[in-house]
Amino acid sequence: QAKEAGKNRIHLYDTEFDVEVRVQRELVERIEHALSEREFLLFYQPKVDLRRGRVIGVEALIRWQDPDRGLLPPSAFLPQIQNHLVSQKIDQWVLSEAVAQLMLWHAIGLDLSISVNVSGLSLQTHDFMNTLAKLLAAHPEINRSRLEIEVLETVALDDIEHISGIISRRQAEGIRFALDDFGTGYASLRYLKHLPADVLKIDQSFVRDMLNDEEDRVIVEGVIGLSRAFKREVVAEGVETLEHYLCLMELGCDFAQGFGIARPMPASEFLPWLENWLPPTEWVRHESGYNA
Ligand code: C2E
Ligand code: MG
Ligand code: MG
Ligand code: MG
Repeated sequence: QAKEAGKNRIHLYDTEFDVEVRVQRELVERIEHALSEREFLLFYQPKVDLRRGRVIGVEALIRWQDPDRGLLPPSAFLPQIQNHLVSQKIDQWVLSEAVAQLMLWHAIGLDLSISVNVSGLSLQTHDFMNTLAKLLAAHPEINRSRLEIEVLETVALDDIEHISGIISRRQAEGIRFALDDFGTGYASLRYLKHLPADVLKIDQSFVRDMLNDEEDRVIVEGVIGLSRAFKREVVAEGVETLEHYLCLMELGCDFAQGFGIARPMPASEFLPWLENWLPPTEWVRHESGYNA
């Protein structure tokens, strides 16, 4: 009897597993096709220096312009393939696209940085690092410190010694690293000490509620304090309103990013946006010395 039930259960798992595998295989095929048809594109979300009231760079965020389903956000396809080889192909495409964009801005005299999100898997593979090395070798005119790699805090904590080693080897070549969604992975102080990342990106969930949730505000303040103590830079994500912006400025946060400043946009919209952008007037009034 028990054996019978066990058999059934195994059978059930098999079926679910089969379905999952089939769905993933179909998605992978569509992604391979999309890569060859150039259906992916990067949107760019500006990042602002809160002290100077200046745009210093962008984060590159992938989108899929699917002819059948329209413009898809990463949540529609990245989670399903995160452990699949094809996600590394995507990360390599993103990297080369971002470097090409840096070249274009460099060519017109714009000194901006680009951050790219890289999966934990890619970070640990030779293919990705080879692509990176080749791109940098092919474009010596690119200032390497203008390329930043974002790694999820949770990924970095997964195998901290290994990831720290990878990060510091690339840092030696001038590339910068950020810990993304910081605060969601519970990096203890001891870990942070051993993680050589240049930047902490405060997760947007804390920033969003910091104005009415005392605990979230304390977390935001805490991360800003940590970043100072450990001599890292700190970026707040999810800055949706002027109140967020001004509060983060008061708290001494270095940089901000969020819908309240700009939504992610295609490269073609970025330059016109940049030309028109001004820091909030409240900020200008606040900084009496703002003339420079
Ligand atoms: P992330 O790296 O933390 O990126 C920030 C996400 O928050 C982006 O969503 C952005 O559009 C959104 N966001 C920015 N400001 C605000 C705001 O003020 N309010 C709210 N509610 N949201 C805001 P997106 O583009 O859908 O990306 C989601 C995640 O997908 C990213 O989170 C990142 O982990 C991943 N991702 C995006 N592009 C890539 C990529 O090229 N490669 C890899 N491996 N992952 C990527
Ligand atoms: Mg990111
Ligand atoms: Mg994030
Ligand atoms: Mg996120």
